[in-house]
Amino acid sequence: MKEELEKKIYERWPKWFRPQGPITETLIPFGLPGDGWFQIIWDLCESLEPYTGDDFEVVQVKEKFGGLRFYTQGGGNHEKINEMINVAEAKAYETCEYCGAPGKSRGGPWIKTLCDACGEQRKTQA
Ligand SMILES: [Zn+2]
Repeated sequence: MKEELEKKIYERWPKWFRPQGPITETLIPFGLPGDGWFQIIWDLCESLEPYTGDDFEVVQVKEKFGGLRFYTQGGGNHEKINEMINVAEAKAYETCEYCGAPGKSRGGPWIKTLCDACGEQRKTQA
């Protein structure tokens, strides 16, 4: 994800994300996945707010097999937290990771969730 977008998230939830590490404790220094998922991650964080405890932290957000993965630790209502994460992960499977347009899972050298245009562009670059 673009640095300016990542910064928006880190500044909005400064207690949840540690972009400065150390990586023995948090993998946020490796960054967040595609720009197209910015809104999904933002909405997810907002939806988590009522359910998190004081020591809640997001330790990794990444793309794997075309899906969003969002790992947390610390206190809160874990049933609700997992429910919100599941909703966001389902949305990500239908949203282009590059641009945020409606997308679907596409094969290739590795699986990505992309819209038609980004999928075509990726083919020509491969
Ligand atoms: Zn796209």
